[in-house]
Amino acid sequence: MNIVHISAECFPAAKAGGLADVVGALPKYQNILGHKASVIMPHYYTKFRSENQYKAVFNGGARLGHHTYSFQVFQLLNENLGFDIYSIDIPGLFDRDKIYSYPDDTERFLTFQIAALNWLNTLKNIPDLVHCHDQHTGFIPFMMSKVWDYQRLKDIPTVFTIHNGQYQGQFGFDRIHYLPPFHSYFYGLVEWDGLINPLASAIKCAWKVTTVSPSYMDEIGYSMRGLESLLRAERNKSTGILNGIDNDVWNPETDTPLEKNYSIKTVESGKKANKNWLCKEFNLNPDLPLFIFIGRLVVEKGADIIPDVVYRMNTEHPGEQNILILGSGEPHIEQGLLKLEADFKGTYCSYIGYNEKLSHIMYAGADFILMPSRVEPCGLNQLYALRYGTVPVVRRTGGLKDTVIDLGDGGFGICHDQVESWDVINSINRAKAFFSRQNAFKQNRKTIMEIDHSWNRAAQEYLELYKTL
Ligand code: ADP
Repeated sequence: MNIVHISAECFPAAKAGGLADVVGALPKYQNILGHKASVIMPHYYTKFRSENQYKAVFNGGARLGHHTYSFQVFQLLNENLGFDIYSIDIPGLFDRDKIYSYPDDTERFLTFQIAALNWLNTLKNIPDLVHCHDQHTGFIPFMMSKVWDYQRLKDIPTVFTIHNGQYQGQFGFDRIHYLPPFHSYFYGLVEWDGLINPLASAIKCAWKVTTVSPSYMDEIGYSMRGLESLLRAERNKSTGILNGIDNDVWNPETDTPLEKNYSIKTVESGKKANKNWLCKEFNLNPDLPLFIFIGRLVVEKGADIIPDVVYRMNTEHPGEQNILILGSGEPHIEQGLLKLEADFKGTYCSYIGYNEKLSHIMYAGADFILMPSRVEPCGLNQLYALRYGTVPVVRRTGGLKDTVIDLGDGGFGICHDQVESWDVINSINRAKAFFSRQNAFKQNRKTIMEIDHSWNRAAQEYLELYKTL
């Protein structure tokens, strides 16, 4: 099968979160299973771009309303990835260093989608299936089936995966002319609640809709920023497939940023060396259990309660644990975390920013990872943590519910149900009690490192789904 993934992110070319990890691994595993999978993404002007070689494969033009753009498709020259990346360079829109958060993101990603289809439309061998990811590619299923220019593509099955339903990309009907011409009879297929909504359009028009965990699929039927009834209406064509992780990239035995590599056999000394490095770097106490948080500092992740948790753990239970935070996001959360550092030197520290290498050392050196998420479509952090022998402390929601079983239920992690400071604090205290039972704690490390969350299973599940189309 010739499968084309279209996405705003793809590791290692451009990453803001889990979307990149998924799109940077799934095609590789589909190729291993004997298919031909590739990725189309925007050509951002990032460090990755300047450090890698590309070959121009197509020159074309795209139109957005009254504006015309020329674009170029580049193929990344890198045989080690295990799949091809084609990135679309649109001068004026993507020649910037960040992926998102520009005022013209609507124009940027709509032009990208139009350029991608203009290019696919010219290919002699058109794909057997197009798999789109998140709202930045949400108009593709609609345009492939209803836009006159793309009639050649209309019989190609489309799959749309919701990695994050919080971001929908809505805009007003004053910009309907941005979409290439189609019969006005189909306006309803791009509309939701009086606005043009790419996520809603994808849910309506894709042949199949998937989410990145079964529990998230169930949850969004009653909570997804106004799209609940649409999701329930389209439930028959929707399914939840739990993400995998790329075991080649996330492997404590070979991971290059680590201070010391380790296997299940050498986990104790390996984790200790990484923990010591972290404690030295961030002025923490290596004798205490180390709790980490890695992620976007946003309400969705429950990051807004972390400053309160840090404050209360350090005042109500001083000197009993270390807490180390890596993330960036909403300024008031960043400020809240930074302000606490002066008061709790020695047992608390935060690194505000994005740091891929540090994240790997943290997964390796930590004893516990905190994930008090309000919404977690799948969550990759807990899966990486398990592979590195770090115990997840999570709120039972979405993919966290599907992948972490509480110690009290015969499992290996610590779970709670609310997004309240006291609930997280209670879990941290349970975790510390578990940490003090060193024999059981060490045995549990080995157990969790053996859990298989590799992409082999998930890649196969996607292929089964494709075959039904
Ligand atoms: P998201 O909702 O952000 O996509 P996921 O759990 O699916 O959440 O994936 C998060 C990914 O982003 C993980 O690979 C995590 O290690 C990484 N990540 C998040 N924030 C940072 C950061 N500040 N520095 C390094 N890596 C980060």
